[in-house]
Amino acid sequence: MRFSSIPGLAETKQKLVSSVKNNHLAHALLFHGPEGSATLPMALGLASFLYCENPTETDSCGTCAACHRLDKLILPDLNFAFPQIARSKKEVETEKIDDMANWRKFAMEQPYGNIHDFVVAMGMQKKQLNISKDEARKIIQTLSLKSFEGGFKTMMIWGVEHLHPSAANSLLKIIEEPPEKTLFLLITNDPEKLLTTILSRTQKVFVRGFSDQEIAEHLVSEFQLAGEKANQIAILSDGSMREAYRLRDEVKDQQVQLIRQWFLKCAGLKVHEIFPLVTDFDKSDVESQKSLILTGLFVLREILLKRLSVEDLLRTQDEDRVFIEKISKVLITEEDVPTIYQKFNEAYYHLERNINAKFVLTVLLLDVLKIAQNKQRNGR
Ligand SMILES: [Zn+2]
Repeated sequence: MRFSSIPGLAETKQKLVSSVKNNHLAHALLFHGPEGSATLPMALGLASFLYCENPTETDSCGTCAACHRLDKLILPDLNFAFPQIARSKKEVETEKIDDMANWRKFAMEQPYGNIHDFVVAMGMQKKQLNISKDEARKIIQTLSLKSFEGGFKTMMIWGVEHLHPSAANSLLKIIEEPPEKTLFLLITNDPEKLLTTILSRTQKVFVRGFSDQEIAEHLVSEFQLAGEKANQIAILSDGSMREAYRLRDEVKDQQVQLIRQWFLKCAGLKVHEIFPLVTDFDKSDVESQKSLILTGLFVLREILLKRLSVEDLLRTQDEDRVFIEKISKVLITEEDVPTIYQKFNEAYYHLERNINAKFVLTVLLLDVLKIAQNKQRNGR
């Protein structure tokens, strides 16, 4: 994660970069901010900047070996600790639980996620998480070893408010006086829950919530969301990127619903019900129209995989699967998918070139209808 992958927050990035340059970086930093803020991304951005072999004035390069390893969170000198549930050794072995692999996946896929997302991602049922005294012992042990690459070692503790008091107490000394070339990056959305003895030993880095503009711009550039929709989501998200992602998924779900209606109505040859859909489509802005066509292409891909019985590759959830099973039986054979796929692609191409949306969609739906009609006539 580079600083540039984090939307906005220029002032925080600049402050961190100048602390590094002026040698003012403390040996224990506490990244704190509201839920859905960039606390974890910012700590990862700093780690990338520090370990990068070829940093620019303001950021890591993103291309050197260290940056690549850091992107996958497998840099040997960057260690992680996070809340866990108590498990016996036997449980870990028999269930083949790889907490570290799960953590990496979570941190890479949901860097703005909260503790609830983490519990779900880690496949935990119970919620009594903590960073135990045993874990604290491991942290101390890890930091007592020499660095792999001869540089400094970093210990990143995510969800540090979940330190068990006994663990916190045993870490006090090492946070106060860490071994040489050791950096602690502590991360929390809830600093009030931390023991004051830990708080007082850290340099605080406050990561504010995102501005509406930062969220909106990110949604447009990252997910090609229409400007108007992005602005609405930004306002509702109230500074939380986690919430913005969730709302964006809802928008995507609505589009999948709409595409499903199209396919079902085409399959049922319900011509009189299809044209009101064209009118609705025509009313939305061009970015939403393009995004809807992309959703259509995604659904077609899933139908094809279903028809080819390559179900391992299907990405859709349960409810969608039922739809895809149904539609791939009645509407489309695998011979038809490439043709329909091409029609959707053409529609996208024409929308991009500002051809009238009503016209583009009418042509597209007539094409799909024709295929559905042929299929039913031939009883395929
Ligand atoms: Zn680099």
